[in-house]
Amino acid sequence: MRTPTDKWIASRLGIAEEDLSAERLAAYQMERLRETVRYAAEHSPFYAEKLKGVDADSLRTAEDIRRLYVTSERDLAGNENRFLCVPPGSVDRIFTVPTTGTHGNRKRIYFTGRDLAPSVEFYYHAFLTFIRPGDRLLVMMGGSAEGSVGDTIDRSLSPIGVTTRVFGQVTDLETAWKAVLESAPDVIVGIPYQIAALAAWSRSHGLPRGVRCVLLSADDVPDAIRERISRLWGAEVYSHYGLTETGLAGGVDCCAHRGYHLRSCDMYAEILDPDEDGFGELAVTPFGREAMPLIRYRTGDIARISTERCPCGGVLPRLETIRGRLSNSCVISGQRVFLSGIEEAVYTDDAAVDLECAAGADSLDLTVRTLPGEKIDKEALRARLSGAVLPAGTRLSVEEETVRGFLPERSPKKRMRLREES
Ligand SMILES: [Zn+2]
Repeated sequence: MRTPTDKWIASRLGIAEEDLSAERLAAYQMERLRETVRYAAEHSPFYAEKLKGVDADSLRTAEDIRRLYVTSERDLAGNENRFLCVPPGSVDRIFTVPTTGTHGNRKRIYFTGRDLAPSVEFYYHAFLTFIRPGDRLLVMMGGSAEGSVGDTIDRSLSPIGVTTRVFGQVTDLETAWKAVLESAPDVIVGIPYQIAALAAWSRSHGLPRGVRCVLLSADDVPDAIRERISRLWGAEVYSHYGLTETGLAGGVDCCAHRGYHLRSCDMYAEILDPDEDGFGELAVTPFGREAMPLIRYRTGDIARISTERCPCGGVLPRLETIRGRLSNSCVISGQRVFLSGIEEAVYTDDAAVDLECAAGADSLDLTVRTLPGEKIDKEALRARLSGAVLPAGTRLSVEEETVRGFLPERSPKKRMRLREES
């Protein structure tokens, strides 16, 4: 089935779905980029300075866009008011999120009601990929406060008779598992490592029946986690990619599972300084933001954009699987190692429910958490890590720790740390 987001994007472009093409989208995006750049330069003190001398009307090609200022989290944290384009009274939602770097601990992202409305629309169309009218949906993340992920999903899907229950994050596995059994959901939305832990828990507490699909969001999605959930629960696993900066919603994969179909009518995505394989840091420019426009905002995610036609029939560029997050990577033995690679190796073992790691200059200390009575196969894990993930000669220590049904809460953005070397 062709991704339903194509139909929606075509309608936003004012054309029929069969007329949708990468070229039509590019022309539309360029128009929105000109408008976004013009607005930012006129209304935000930060961009008035950074875009000085830029003639928005002259922006015609991707090459022209590549000459514009690249915005980073460092520009934003602690400096949010210089980005603000509306009087503070017009701001409807402020999201405060942890930063990944050492520059300021938090950043605030401002939205007007109009800024967030397209996210609600996107969720609706993206969820049509796997949701059916009348489904029961269990959201195991966020909260139910107005404007949160749970609330946004609920408002998007209630018109087609979908019942949404917002449980929140999975920290206590037993309570979370009870919620799954009681709610008997058709679809679960959750955070990858938490749902992976829940799947591990379900092995000894009764497998669920009837979970048709799982949507994983808010973190890297290792293939090993997808595979575990689909094997143990018989559910089809989808992934969502989004950032607070993109208004939460960003892209969702389709039934072909070959990368994220992006919310391309609301944002421009590009890869900064791609390597020979096309991988580089993803930057996004959301369109038409009233409160806080962001131009070429660095996401910290290393990814690649594919322009090949998707097996589902989708014709627009897709964001391929994210290789990893820069903030969740370290240089070990002279080579960049991504946490996502380590997770891939760890979660292949069904007993693993969580992990923690600290990197040294030529070493990695890994702690793998398991449930009571469970053991990982340490030798097999070492072999997976040494073979493909860690550079030759890396000293590797693997410890096991038992969790008694409680998962530590953590920020997805900064989980791999550098060990203090004495
Ligand atoms: Zn597709």
